[in-house]
Amino acid sequence: MSAPLKGRLVFLGTSAGVPTQDRGLPSIALRWGGDLLLFDCGEGTQRQMVIAGVGLGRKVMIFFTHMHGDHVLGLPGLLMTMSLMNRKEKLEIFGPRGLDKFVKSILPSVRLGLTFDLAISEIDGEGKVVGGSGYSVYSDKADHHAESQAYAFVEDPRRGRFDAEKAKSLGVGEGPGRSVLAKGMELELPNGRVVKPSDVLGPPRQGFKMVYTGDTRYCERIVRLSKGADVLIHDSTFDESRGDEAYETYHSTCVDAARAAREANAKKLFLFHISARYRDPSLLCKQAKKYFSNVEVAEDLASFEIR
Ligand SMILES: [Zn+2]
Ligand SMILES: [Zn+2]
Repeated sequence: MSAPLKGRLVFLGTSAGVPTQDRGLPSIALRWGGDLLLFDCGEGTQRQMVIAGVGLGRKVMIFFTHMHGDHVLGLPGLLMTMSLMNRKEKLEIFGPRGLDKFVKSILPSVRLGLTFDLAISEIDGEGKVVGGSGYSVYSDKADHHAESQAYAFVEDPRRGRFDAEKAKSLGVGEGPGRSVLAKGMELELPNGRVVKPSDVLGPPRQGFKMVYTGDTRYCERIVRLSKGADVLIHDSTFDESRGDEAYETYHSTCVDAARAAREANAKKLFLFHISARYRDPSLLCKQAKKYFSNVEVAEDLASFEIR
C-alpha cells in the first residue's frame, strides 16, 4: 500500500526572462491539502494552471521572489480572473519591497475592483513567513540584482515510528492504548504503571521540504536554507561555459545549482529558469550530473506527487 498523498508539485512555467514554445514564464504551484501555494507568477501563469488542472482553493498564497517582470506580470491577470469568478476568500501575497506599490498602482490603472480581500506582506531577510497549517514557509535573501527572497516550504515534523515490540514488552496490548501513545499522549495501564510516548516512539521525522531560490547566484544563505531539502529548485539560467555571464547578471549556471544541492545535501535538484537559448536543455543536466546525480531539468506542466 502506498503512503497517502500529501501534496502535488507542478511546474507552471520554467523559462528565464523570455518564453519559448515549450516554456512559460516562471511559476511553481504546490498543492498541499486544500491549500494552494504559488511561487512567482510570471505572465501566463493562470492559463498554465487551467491546463495543468491546478484549481484555486479556499486558501491561496502567492510568494514572489523579486519584482522583475518575468516573475510578477501574471499577477494582474490572475487577480482579474479571481474577481470575475467572484472569489470571496482572502488572497495572501508575499514578496520583497515594491510588491505593495506594484499592486496598488496596477489595480486602478486597469479599473480592477477586487471581490476579495488582498493581504500584501512585504518581507526582508531571514525568517518564518507563514506557519500553523501543518507546514511553514521560511525565507532568506537570495543574491540577485534586485531585492530577492528564496523560500523554503517545510512540513511540520512527523512523530517518530511506533516501536510495537517495545510497547509489547512494556505491557501495552494491541487495543486502543497504542493509538493513545501514537498520538503523543501518556497511557496508564491497568496495573497503574504509566507509559510515556517517548518510551515507544522513535525521534521525530523531518517532514517534506522544498526550496525555491528564484533568480540568484550561488549563495551560502541558500545552501543554509536548503539543508536536507527533499526538493531544491534552483536558478540554472546558463550552462557551465557561461559562468562569467551568470555571475555578472546575478544568475547561476547548472553547475552552481549542482554545487548548492550537493552542499545542502538535498535529495533532488530541479534546474529552473532555463534561458531560451537552450532549445535542448540536456546539456545543463549532463554538466550538473558531474557534481550532483539526482538532477532533472524542470519542464512546464510536469507534476509530482508528494507522499
Ligand atoms: Zn527571472
Ligand atoms: Zn530577476
